[in-house]
Amino acid sequence: MNHTFSVKLPSGEIWTPTFVSTLDGQKCIGCGRCFRVCSRGVLQLAGVSEDGALIPLDDDDEDEYQKKVMTIAHAELCIGCTACARICPKKCYRHAAAQV
Ligand code: SF4
Ligand code: SF4
Repeated sequence: MNHTFSVKLPSGEIWTPTFVSTLDGQKCIGCGRCFRVCSRGVLQLAGVSEDGALIPLDDDDEDEYQKKVMTIAHAELCIGCTACARICPKKCYRHAAAQV
């Protein structure tokens, strides 16, 4: 049987971390606020080409992309703090509790 992963904090409060699951690239404006608050290296900015393909921004060639969006590059590094969701002005994020 699956249970939701929760921890007891020093205060005695029970906390259920919720981990990043999806990021809505249609709503994202590429502002980078979530990237700046994530301490875990989960997120990465990418370019979006005319046909909707994601392009790495290594060489920062602005001719190749129409706009920038944030992507979840390393979901496995997320610690479930939800700082990204709280700072996002466009409500792009969905988080989910882990099952144990
Ligand atoms: S929940 Fe926290 S660790 Fe996970 S992606 Fe968002 S800011 Fe980073
Ligand atoms: S804070 Fe929201 S709108 Fe800004 S880059 Fe992150 S996901 Fe996109």
